[in-house]
Amino acid sequence: MSITNQANPAKPNVTATSPFQQRSLQSVWHPCTQMKLHETYPLVPIVRGEGVWLYDADGNGYLDAIGSWWVNLFGHTNPAINAAIKDQLDKIEHVMLAGFTHEPVVALSERLASITPGDLGHCFYASDGASATEIALKMSFHYWQLAGKPNKTQFVSLQNDYHGETLGALSVTDVGIFKKTYSPLLRPCTHVMTPDWRYANHGESAEHYALRAAAALEEHLSRYHDETAALIIEPLIQGAMGMGMYHPAYLKRAREICDRYQVHLIADEIAVGFGRTGTLFACEQADIAPDFLCLAKGLSGGYLPLSVVLTTDTVYQRFYDDKSAHAFLHSHTHTGNALACRAALAVLDIFEQDNVLETNKIKAEYLNQAAAALSSHPKVSNFRNCGMIWAFEVDTDLEQFSQKFFQAGLTQRLLLRPLGKTVYFMPPYIITEEEIDLLVNGTLHILNTLEQ
Ligand SMILES: *Cc1c(COP(=O)(O)O)cnc(C)c1O
Repeated sequence: MSITNQANPAKPNVTATSPFQQRSLQSVWHPCTQMKLHETYPLVPIVRGEGVWLYDADGNGYLDAIGSWWVNLFGHTNPAINAAIKDQLDKIEHVMLAGFTHEPVVALSERLASITPGDLGHCFYASDGASATEIALKMSFHYWQLAGKPNKTQFVSLQNDYHGETLGALSVTDVGIFKKTYSPLLRPCTHVMTPDWRYANHGESAEHYALRAAAALEEHLSRYHDETAALIIEPLIQGAMGMGMYHPAYLKRAREICDRYQVHLIADEIAVGFGRTGTLFACEQADIAPDFLCLAKGLSGGYLPLSVVLTTDTVYQRFYDDKSAHAFLHSHTHTGNALACRAALAVLDIFEQDNVLETNKIKAEYLNQAAAALSSHPKVSNFRNCGMIWAFEVDTDLEQFSQKFFQAGLTQRLLLRPLGKTVYFMPPYIITEEEIDLLVNGTLHILNTLEQ
């Protein structure tokens, strides 16, 4: 396949592709991508990374302002995480976790139990976020079966929530672009009113709106609690639907309502866990503990696929029995992978040693000040920040805005990938003030120069 301007006269921006581009496009089917788009927009071949920077084959650096899809916390090729993985590599890379155990998975589970809210202390591992969602849903359902409540088979989530794209996770997701096509394959799920403050009435406070949304949740659960196993939510920030942020009062109320109606609360902190919202876990801001906590993405510093569901002793004990059918019979082959657990332990060491959350506050303050011209830009609305996430909407009618903004970002040496018309920053925590300036000024430049 050879693509040139001439062969494709309707597309003025077509770039002649290199042999490597051609090999890549012919063999690799990329995620979340209409592959034909790459006739116009070449893939960016990355050969190495260091800190916040990704480098292509020509040595151009790109500031990874979205943490490589929200996973990277402490930079690429972080020396401490690299060293931990290398050390583990010479001991044992992986052993099945059924019937076997090893120090990294035990140590990680103990540490997660000690840093997460409430009495979450039993860790069930998988490899990606969607699998963590599946585990939490199945465990909750199974718990109620064992507890003599066989009618509790339904799940509730929030409007605009995202919990992954396998069929079970997609059922509780409410993001049209991912869900619409596959809806005949999915279980019905009620998505109750979102607390996302962008939907508040003019002049209504975030807290007031959050409480109004909580009242809608109560209205639903007061009627349907007998058949509802769990409420699953993205705490504080609904990521995939444009970084919608909401007041912690919602979480507090949701916990009370779930308790009142005997419905499990599943907190999907896959994106927001490990400091993204300013606290180690988002639930801390409402001083609540969920019945199930899903973690992935930043868990291994973004290095290796690793996810976990933590749950309580109450849930765990319900499965503890002489009958094997009472066990949680669910497995993923790479459960508790030793290399990934070591990476996660190295990440927790960094949190402990480097006072990360305090340093992040100073960095966030710096970015907010540096972004004054951005937040007041005439094309920008709803400029918002929570912890180490920033987002704003761009007033534009440009077709393929997201793709064009991404391309313009590359020319500014920035990796930015808007969600629709929402531009967001989710940089690795090791970003420096100088790099924050590059990010903010580059973004301003794109806004000022992008064709309208
Ligand atoms: C990314 C994400 C998931 C899915 O994780 P994968 O590893 O992509 O399967 C689930 N929930 C939330 C909130 C996420 O951000």
